[in-house]
Amino acid sequence: MAGIYGAALHGGRARLVRVEALLGRGLSRIVLVGMPDAVAREARERLPAALRRHGFGFPKGKVLLNLVPAQIPKGGLPLDLAMAVSVLVRQGSLQSPVRPWLFLAELDLEGRLHPPARGTLLAALAAGSSKLAFAGVITAPEVASEAALAPGVPAYAAADLGEVAALLEAPGNGEPAAPLDPGGEAGTSLRLEDVRGQQQARWAAIIAATGGHPVLFQGPPGTGKSMVARRLAELLPALDPATALELAKVEAALGRVRAMPRRAPLRAPHNTISAQALLGGGQPLRPGELSRAHGGVLFLDELPEFARPALEGLRQPLEDGEVRLQRVREWATFPADALLVASCNPCPCGFLTHRRIPCRCTPARLAQYRLRVSGPLLDRFDLFVEMGPVAAEALDGPPGPPTSAMASERMARARARQEERCARGQVGRAGRATLEQLLATGVAASARVLLRQAADQLQLSGRGHLRCLRVARSIADLDGSAILEREHLQRALLYRRVTTEEGASTG
Ligand SMILES: [Zn+2]
Repeated sequence: MAGIYGAALHGGRARLVRVEALLGRGLSRIVLVGMPDAVAREARERLPAALRRHGFGFPKGKVLLNLVPAQIPKGGLPLDLAMAVSVLVRQGSLQSPVRPWLFLAELDLEGRLHPPARGTLLAALAAGSSKLAFAGVITAPEVASEAALAPGVPAYAAADLGEVAALLEAPGNGEPAAPLDPGGEAGTSLRLEDVRGQQQARWAAIIAATGGHPVLFQGPPGTGKSMVARRLAELLPALDPATALELAKVEAALGRVRAMPRRAPLRAPHNTISAQALLGGGQPLRPGELSRAHGGVLFLDELPEFARPALEGLRQPLEDGEVRLQRVREWATFPADALLVASCNPCPCGFLTHRRIPCRCTPARLAQYRLRVSGPLLDRFDLFVEMGPVAAEALDGPPGPPTSAMASERMARARARQEERCARGQVGRAGRATLEQLLATGVAASARVLLRQAADQLQLSGRGHLRCLRVARSIADLDGSAILEREHLQRALLYRRVTTEEGASTG
């Protein structure tokens, strides 16, 4: 007898669960073994009514339902339909299918199918990549297109047990569901030139999007920090298919997938977010906002207002491009290749760097504010942009460069440079490059001299030195230049963090 399968969510992914039924003598009752959760235990109470509603009858005596493998806790996905089909096959109401099938639905007393709240795509992927050669997935109509995103296995929609039985008796008669459509095209609503003045910040957004450089915008309220940050995500290219699927899996672990992701995501959690909601957690383990920003931008507005554990927890995942969560009986890895974009005020009142409005903060309050974000986290930012108030003439004149059109033209140039390097086995985007990788891309002698001088005179730390070179590489790429010239480095030096870098090490 080929397997009747359901699935459970564990460790951030779906595990296939085989449902075996055994009929015995004695008192009429349903016994469920194999670490079922409370939801699965309740499901058995609904089975007899659902089966009888569709004219199948329900066996008298003891019905034993065994969930295999036994050592994985079952939960996260409904096992109702798999249990029902297993009983139907065992009592002879349905022929035993030749190949295994995956069943993903809850049943009501009328025998109607209801979709899983989350995890449909994850379960379908598990079946599609299984060596067992699944014949198909049967689920509720609402999520059949989500299941159909999984390669290697057709997905079928059924409204009730009667339709499920018909499909299993003659699978050839069923039409597999079409996969979900991709999400909308790259947006054109937010343009860089909507931000008046702030040319250095607009260039910083382009450099950050080009090389994948974390960027921090600092300035008084009303200078357009979050406007620039939000436009940065629009500059990122459309997701490649592998990244889009990873992102869809993250969404599937949290709920239903509404569209196949296509654009780079922008996640902008509020500063009251908990470390768990930002990084992932819960039981079973679920991804957080960081993973929902995979392939796109994680924007933290008012960086110093975020809880310290949330911020500190970001450091390692951002370095690795993935977040690892460890609990007593469960561990999970979620993707976290997100570009960190943040904004902050220069001080609690916001006006420390303002030319006309005086700062009202006490020295003690100022010192406390600066300690809220640790040196090692600040060290993650390659680009640091000080934004001042916009001059009145910039508000009503033409926007001036750079515009979004200019950005896409320059970025296409940069991508060509990056692809050329990748083809030669060198580093592409500079955001995570090491010093050796950067030097190997071709750095002019005059630029090396300037870098040594800068390191000396500005007392750049080792990390500061590396950051300047990374940013300079991306600036050279935007210029379409294979060689990193002295002027690229000069421009990169404008984006270094001045306050703490030129002084004691922040390590
Ligand atoms: Zn202040």
